[in-house]
Amino acid sequence: MLVPADPENVARAGALLRAGGIVAFPTETVYGLGADAFDAAAVARIFEAKGRPVFDPLIVHVSDDAMLARVVRCVPELARRLAERFWPGPLTLVLEKRDAVPAIVTAGLPTVGVRCPAHPVAQALIEAAGVPLAAPSANRFGAISPTRAEHVEAQLGERVDTILDGGPTELGVESTIVLLAGERPALLRHGALPVEEIEAVTGPLLDATRAGEARDAVPLAPGQSASHYAPRTPLRVVLADSVPRQERARAGLLAFRAPAAEPGYAAVRVLAADGDLRRAAAVLFEALHELDALGLERIDAEQVPETGIGRAIADRLRRAATR
Ligand code: AMP
Ligand code: MG
Repeated sequence: MLVPADPENVARAGALLRAGGIVAFPTETVYGLGADAFDAAAVARIFEAKGRPVFDPLIVHVSDDAMLARVVRCVPELARRLAERFWPGPLTLVLEKRDAVPAIVTAGLPTVGVRCPAHPVAQALIEAAGVPLAAPSANRFGAISPTRAEHVEAQLGERVDTILDGGPTELGVESTIVLLAGERPALLRHGALPVEEIEAVTGPLLDATRAGEARDAVPLAPGQSASHYAPRTPLRVVLADSVPRQERARAGLLAFRAPAAEPGYAAVRVLAADGDLRRAAAVLFEALHELDALGLERIDAEQVPETGIGRAIADRLRRAATR
């Protein structure tokens, strides 16, 4: 059931979580589907609702340092500096877990991904629950991530106990993930916090964002499926204006900037008319949801510049294009 994220409903959702329920809620990145991170049975319901394979670990959401200390064994110096600089915000740190965190949360790994979300509803919900919340994105596994409560309802509906509607999410792509439990800090996923900003604090990170690359140095980086964030409509990434006219009539265009002339596609969604990458990230998944609903033959997604948050957009498009 979709309800407004007012204080009364947040309090009720907190009680549901304490009782083993699963609740969808807004964060500044995308909507999450949360359960008490210490309750293995409740977390199992998330995997069931999403159809998510159990080898794919979840991110644990905390509201403060005291809660962080209940989840991780220790906070290394570098992690502390990153948390001070970027929390609350769209950065997930992978650290050594405490025994109290059940194996289902971490896919059996000795490490756990943790982040402190900046969204006031997410913070209020964690506090109302009084426990850290294990929460992946609130979509069916592999499908487009939800940036509105309606996206959650369409994909998960009655499979979840309640959906807190806090309006569209601000950033629109998932958190950036950094592993700080290995020999060297490594980037596991591009996300809403540009890697350049993180490296300004950490120095160069090992890049473990693509299968094969640097994977030997980072054995503990599962769950980066080649196919992810995928619409039902086939999608390919194209260079602007490179597609022959006759291939456009029954396809949709996911344009980065406003196209110069009438592009001749059946439908067009523009991510950012002025080429602003942050604006583009904020509406990326919403535009994909919209194009996917039109019954098109194909979606052509225009390449975006791979700088700042553009790397996260490019990563999502590549995986959306993989079948
Ligand atoms: P999401 O579906 O946005 O919640 O993404 C969770 C992702 O975080 C997983 O798919 C992994 O890529 C990553 N992750 C979470 N925990 C860990 C961990 N302990 N070690 C490595 N990666 C992790
Ligand atoms: Mg996800």
